Amino acid sequence: MLNNKKILIAGLANKHSIAAGIARAMHAQGAELAFTYQSERLKRNVEKIAEELGSSILIECDVASDQSIDMMYKELKTHWGSFDGFVHSIGYAPANELEGNFIDAATREGFQIAHDISSYSFTAMAKAAKPMLNDNAALLTLTYLGAIQSLPNYNVMGLAKASLEANTRFLAAALGPDGIRVNAISAGPIKTLAASGVKNFRKMLTSYANRAPLRRPVTTLEVGNVAAFLCSDLASGVTGEITYVDGGFNTAAMSIEEYVD
Ligand code: NAD
Repeated sequence: MLNNKKILIAGLANKHSIAAGIARAMHAQGAELAFTYQSERLKRNVEKIAEELGSSILIECDVASDQSIDMMYKELKTHWGSFDGFVHSIGYAPANELEGNFIDAATREGFQIAHDISSYSFTAMAKAAKPMLNDNAALLTLTYLGAIQSLPNYNVMGLAKASLEANTRFLAAALGPDGIRVNAISAGPIKTLAASGVKNFRKMLTSYANRAPLRRPVTTLEVGNVAAFLCSDLASGVTGEITYVDGGFNTAAMSIEEYVD
């Protein structure tokens, strides 16, 4: 599905990252991959997975800084003159915002950080990538149900994901005339480093598995397979969409077990 496609993966922290499942799935479909890592601390983890997937392109990039993003693309250009898209699998909010009552936990600073790192960075990465993107390129980001429904502890990340979903639609409209597609996957909860920042995440995972029609959590590889499809030419007519990979959770108001006593 992805033969001859060069795709940049941003947001790999370790083997449990959703970006790791996406990288594996894209590699299996024939993509050539490059990776960014947030800081020196995560470099070794990313290096190991990149090696396994036949990639030696690893570039540091902190999406909080436009300079860091520009330097990353400058270095990428020394390997790839142009490329076919990127995956933005990045989100962050200060830990104290992700527990307790939303109105008590919310701060101006936390709001700004969450929106900057979790939403604006997608625009920033797209803006700087544009001159290097091939025709038919595809961009992809990762969102969560908290964008459209409230739930405990997710708090300001829900607002940031709502912004990210709007960002997906506006980027799709802005880049569509150039043939570039922009989509998002709304993944079900998966135990990763970022997820462990949300208080009582384990409980969320249990209640999710009880209600989801498939009655189990999704895997990063299942998210990856849909990511591979969305970034391939098989999805050439799809842009601006939020695609759910959540075992059907968002489609079910209640499970039979919750309803019957
Ligand atoms: P993860 O911790 O493995 O990945 C998050 C990544 O964001 C890390 O690689 C981290 O380095 C990166 N990041 C944070 N701040 C950054 C910065 N300033 N510059 C560069 N990179 C930065 O966790 P994950 O669950 O794989 O998260 C990936 C994406 O998937 C996030 O957007 C997350 O919100 C989203 N998501 C996760 C779940 C879940 O349950 N795990 C569900 C739906 C959506």
